[in-house]
Amino acid sequence: ANVSGLALALIALSIAVLVSRRSGGPVREIADAIRNGQFTPYYQPVIDIMSGRLAGCEVLVRWTKPDGSVLPPGRFITLAEASGQIFPMTIALMEAARDDLGPLYAERPNLKLGFNLFAGHFDDVSIVEDVERIFAASSIRMTQLMFEVTERQPLPNIPGARLVIAKLQALGARVALDDVGTGHGGLSYLLKLGVDVMKMDKMFVDAIGTDRYSVAIVDSLVKLAEDMNLDLIAEGVETIEQVEYLRGKGVRMAQGYVFAPPLPASSFRALVEAMVPA
Ligand code: C2E
Ligand code: CA
Ligand code: CA
Ligand code: CA
Repeated sequence: ANVSGLALALIALSIAVLVSRRSGGPVREIADAIRNGQFTPYYQPVIDIMSGRLAGCEVLVRWTKPDGSVLPPGRFITLAEASGQIFPMTIALMEAARDDLGPLYAERPNLKLGFNLFAGHFDDVSIVEDVERIFAASSIRMTQLMFEVTERQPLPNIPGARLVIAKLQALGARVALDDVGTGHGGLSYLLKLGVDVMKMDKMFVDAIGTDRYSVAIVDSLVKLAEDMNLDLIAEGVETIEQVEYLRGKGVRMAQGYVFAPPLPASSFRALVEAMVPA
């Protein structure tokens, strides 16, 4: 029943994409929005909770409409992925982030810049070529870049994904496994993909101070990251109590509303200038 449910959902989505392409519906709207630069990078600060310093940011896409409304990715990213428009959208985002942050990041080589990729990006090496083209001649160093692969979507071709990841790393970038513990890979993606960084999902962070069994998972993930020699970033951190707990366990990096939500470029730039001397 599960499988046929999934098949039906996929068929429904394909029909939605087809109808929308023809009728000037949402797929056409997304294409227009890419052309008009309406997909805007927002930047969520990542904090080194040992030192209190700003470590960098994660890019999170927003659809900024001409009427001033701002749509979160939950409203359009699935359709962009299903229609293939996620590819040009990701290129546009990387270019925009480069232009927003290039000069600031050039003077602050320790700051990191993370991008979300989707499973389809790990099917062939064109994303590696895009990254090279966009950043090679820019003032942002490859070593400042991080790319996140989510466990929420299945990776159909693990050896192929392994190759894309290795090529990104060969450029000097780092790769993180996002949403660890929530998705398809189980722990096998951690073993097979060769990532540098583990991102602990909000679901586990939420449990701190409430659910002792889930907190046992937090502790296990921290231990696993240590044993595998991976950096760990805790996400969705909303309370000081969570920060204290994570710091006590030796977790170095965190992001979440307790520090800041995703910020538009001007606000994030002001934060960088205030927190990180050039
Ligand atoms: P994600 O990569 O796991 O990003 C974290 C999400 O948690 C973001 O939601 C962020 O705004 C939100 N968040 C951060 N801190 C807190 C907190 O303390 N509390 C709560 N409740 N939420 C917090 P957002 O921006 O709506 O993005 C949702 C998802 O959309 C992302 O999850 C990611 O999977 C996807 N996404 C976002 N931007 C991109 C993109 O450029 N490309 C791709 N392929 N996917 C993207
Ligand atoms: Ca992410
Ligand atoms: Ca995540
Ligand atoms: Ca390492």
